[in-house]
Amino acid sequence: MSTAIHWFRRDLRLTDNPALTAALAHHDEVILVYILSSWSTQHHWSGSPRQEFLCGCLTALAADLASKGGRLIIRQGPPEDALVQLLIETNATAIYTNRSPDPFGHALEIRLAKIVSDRHAQFLTYQDAAIHERDAVLTGEHTPFRVFTPYSKAWLKLDKPPTTPTSTRFSPSTHLPSLPLPSLATWGLTRQTPPITPGEAAARQRVEHFLDGPIFQYAATRNQPIGGFNSRLSQDLRHGTISPRELYQKCADLASRFPLHSPSIATFINELIWREFYFQVLWHHPDILDHELQPHYRQLPWHSHWRPESQPAGPAFDRWANGQTGFPIVDAGMRELLATGSMHNRLRMITAMFLTKDLHIWWMHGESWFMRHLVDGEIASNNGGWQWSSSTGTDAAPYFRIQNPWSQTKRFDPSGTYIKKWVPELRDLPPHLFQEPPAPGLPLAKNYPLPMVNHQQARDLTLAMFRR
Ligand SMILES: Cc1cc2nc3c(=O)[nH]c(=O)nc-3n(C[C@H](O)[C@H](O)[C@H](O)COP(=O)(O)OP(=O)(O)OC[C@H]3O[C@@H](n4cnc5c(N)ncnc54)[C@H](O)[C@@H]3O)c2cc1C
Repeated sequence: MSTAIHWFRRDLRLTDNPALTAALAHHDEVILVYILSSWSTQHHWSGSPRQEFLCGCLTALAADLASKGGRLIIRQGPPEDALVQLLIETNATAIYTNRSPDPFGHALEIRLAKIVSDRHAQFLTYQDAAIHERDAVLTGEHTPFRVFTPYSKAWLKLDKPPTTPTSTRFSPSTHLPSLPLPSLATWGLTRQTPPITPGEAAARQRVEHFLDGPIFQYAATRNQPIGGFNSRLSQDLRHGTISPRELYQKCADLASRFPLHSPSIATFINELIWREFYFQVLWHHPDILDHELQPHYRQLPWHSHWRPESQPAGPAFDRWANGQTGFPIVDAGMRELLATGSMHNRLRMITAMFLTKDLHIWWMHGESWFMRHLVDGEIASNNGGWQWSSSTGTDAAPYFRIQNPWSQTKRFDPSGTYIKKWVPELRDLPPHLFQEPPAPGLPLAKNYPLPMVNHQQARDLTLAMFRR
C-alpha cells in the first residue's frame, strides 16, 4: 500500500485541484495537511482580515473533506520541519503540492525538493494558481513581456489547460495527531472587519451570481465603486477556493452562448490576465519587492525612503491610512479598506496615486499597508498595482499622468453615494462639493479636515521630482 501527502497551500478546494487529483490517482492513502505559519501578533505583510478568511476557508475545507470521509491534518511551524516529521510518521513516499506563484514559496519548494529527496521520497509540484505558468507566455524571442497588451494577446492565443477531475475518495488518517483548526487567536490577532463568507461553496456562489448577470454589464460598470458590479472573487483566487481554469472555462462558455455579450465577458477575462501578467513580472523580476522595476526611478527623493518594516512613514502617512486627508474620495477608499478588508480597484488606484504623487511617500509603505489590510492581498498584484500607480513598474502609468482626486470623484462617484457611505461627516452635503477643493480655510464639515495638500502644487512637485 502506498501513502502520499497532499500539502494544501493556496489551493483550499477539492474541485479541479491538480496536485490533489494526481496524489489520489497514484496512491492508496493520501494524507491531507495544511501547515500554519508561526508568526505572532505583528507581521509586515499579513493582518487579521486575510488570516480570518484563511481560518474560515480551512474550516470549510475540513468540513468538505469530512463529508467525503477525509480528515484535514493541521500542523504548525516551518514547512520543512512539519513535512519531514509527517514523512517520518506516515512512511509516505511522496509529497504533492501546487506551485506557489511568489518567490518565497518558490524558494521553499527548492529547499523542500532537496530535503525530501534526501529522505528517498518524491516532491511533486503542479501548476495551479494561474492558467498559464509564469514562463509559458513569452515574446517571439523567448523573453518575458514587459507590456500588458502584447502579453494578453499572446496569452489568449495559447491553448488552455483542461480542468482536472474532482476527487471523492478520501481516507480519514485517524491515527495522526492534528492541531485544532486555527482562529485569529492562533496569531494573537483580533477581528478588524466583518468576514467575507469563506470556503469553496461560498466562492462558487459568488461565481454563479456574477456570471448570472453582472458580467454582462461588466465592461460598462466595472469602474463604479458602488453597486456591486465587480465579481468580488479576488480573495477566492488568492486562496484557491476557486480554480482559475474553471472560472476561465465558464466565462469562455458563456461568451460562446451569448455572443452579443462577449465584449463584456472579454473585458472580465482581461482582468484575469492582468493577474497572470503580474505573476510573471514578479517571477522574472523578483527584486521588484525591494525596489522600483525601472532602475532610473530607484533614486527618487520620496519623503520616506526607508523600508516600512524598519520605520513608520510618519504623520502624513497615518492621515492617509486612516482616511483623514481631507480629500473625500481618498478618505472614503481608505475607510472602506479599514472597515471591510477590501477596496474597489478604482479606489486602489486613486488612493495609491494620492499617497505617491500628492504626498510623495514611498509606494512601499502603501504596498505594505494594503498587504496587511486586504483580504485579497496578493504579493504580485499588489506590487504591480503600486508600481503602476507610482509610475515605476512595467507598463506603468506614465509619471506625468497624475489622477486628480477631485475630477476622479466627478467621473466615478458623481452622486457622492460612495463617499457618503464611508465618510458619514459628509452625508448631508451636495455631491458637487466633493468635486473641487473647498474654499481656503473652510472645511467641508465641522469634524472633517481641510485637504492636507494642494493637489496642483503637489502635482507640480511630482513632475519636477520625476524630471530630475
Ligand atoms: C494599488 C493596487 C493594489 C492592488 N492590490 C491587489 C491585491 O493585493 N490583490 C489582488 O487580487 N488585486 C489587487 N489589485 C487589483 C484589483 O484592484 C483587485 O484585483 C480587484 O479590485 C478585486 O476586486 P474584484 O475581485 O471584484 O475584481 P474584478 O473587477 O471582478 O476582477 C476580476 C479578477 O481579476 C483580477 N484583477 C482585476 N484587476 C486586476 C489588476 N489591476 N491587477 C491584477 N489582477 C486584477 C483579480 O483577481 C479579480 O478578482 C490592486 C490594484 C491596485 C491599483
